[in-house]
Amino acid sequence: MSERAISVPKKILITGGAGFIGSHLCERLLSDGNDVICVDNYFTGIKDNIAHLMDNPRFEVMRHDVTFPLYVEVDEIYNLACPASPVHYQHDPVQTTKTSVHGAINLLGLAKRLRAKIFQASTSEVYGDPEVHPQHESYWGNTNPIGQRACYDEGKRCAETLFFDYWRQHGLRIKVARIFNTYGPRMHPNDGRVVSNFIVQALRGEDITIYGDGSQTRSFCYVEDLVEAFVRSMDTDDDFTGPVNIGNPGEFTILELAEKVIAAIGNDSKIVNMPLPNDDPARRRPDISLAQEKLGWEPTIDLDQGLERTISYFDKLLSQ
Ligand code: NAD
Ligand code: UDP
Repeated sequence: MSERAISVPKKILITGGAGFIGSHLCERLLSDGNDVICVDNYFTGIKDNIAHLMDNPRFEVMRHDVTFPLYVEVDEIYNLACPASPVHYQHDPVQTTKTSVHGAINLLGLAKRLRAKIFQASTSEVYGDPEVHPQHESYWGNTNPIGQRACYDEGKRCAETLFFDYWRQHGLRIKVARIFNTYGPRMHPNDGRVVSNFIVQALRGEDITIYGDGSQTRSFCYVEDLVEAFVRSMDTDDDFTGPVNIGNPGEFTILELAEKVIAAIGNDSKIVNMPLPNDDPARRRPDISLAQEKLGWEPTIDLDQGLERTISYFDKLLSQ
């Protein structure tokens, strides 16, 4: 009998599955033939993001807050639960830290009981306002532990600590990915992140709000590329734990991004400058050599192509 004929679908838990990235991951893992349990408390995620998956008998949804223990039986866990937009994670900072830290403890405990493999959606924010450029995984970062971003940055840093202690202490199979700015369809139109903000503003003919002078840089990865890297990361040998940077090394100033969005939408939105939020990192670009080596991965969709797809999504959404 061929290997394919005897392979059984994996049971996979995705926390934060109704969010922007989580919904794409649910879709991808279902299309690979797996059973997927999506857990979400709908803090920033919405049911519309997963509505098209509800008829799939392999898909199950649970409303649950990961700061409380969870009892399910699965083979693999992807832990994505956590608001990612600064506006949202600063809305209830105590809950944000709890989500990262208590959430990690609960899910690592679950993985330990089940001997399941567990993936953590960490972030480039662990590098803070980096003094090393581009950022390599060996860089320990420059974060402000008491600033407005700390609930997110330090929560994610502590989650990484927990993952590595469970690996050292209990031999758990872990995969830690540091995600750089990601964009694409199903970002929430009001979530305040730069790509969705600029596109929604330009489509509505409103002013484009640049915080500061727009010279700060970011590197933007299209969601489909990101999800491919998640799946490859989960499938690496057990001795590969990460952390591994996942992002698109193309680096753009925020002013360049605004100009690209205006040109792609082709209207006459004006650029206005607003105050720069505290601790806003000045520059960010991933060194992805480890992902290239260990995952055989690099992004395939450049910013112009990704923006075109994302603009088309928001255009349809806003005209509904
Ligand atoms: P998102 O806000 O769209 O998704 C997060 C999801 O987690 C939402 O569905 C939300 O309702 C859910 N959630 C929040 N708190 C929860 C809790 N206590 N219990 C259960 N569910 C909860 O954000 P996203 O962009 O899809 O980000 C997904 C993950 O990737 C996050 O962990 C984020 O930190 C990480 N990440 C994202 C980016 C990015 O650019 N999008 C960059 C770095 C890291
Ligand atoms: N930003 C901006 N205008 C906006 C939203 C964000 O100029 O309407 C800037 C923000 O100050 C930051 C960058 O864009 O320098 C990326 O912001 P985002 O919130 O998307 O993510 P971050 O990388 O800061 O977590």
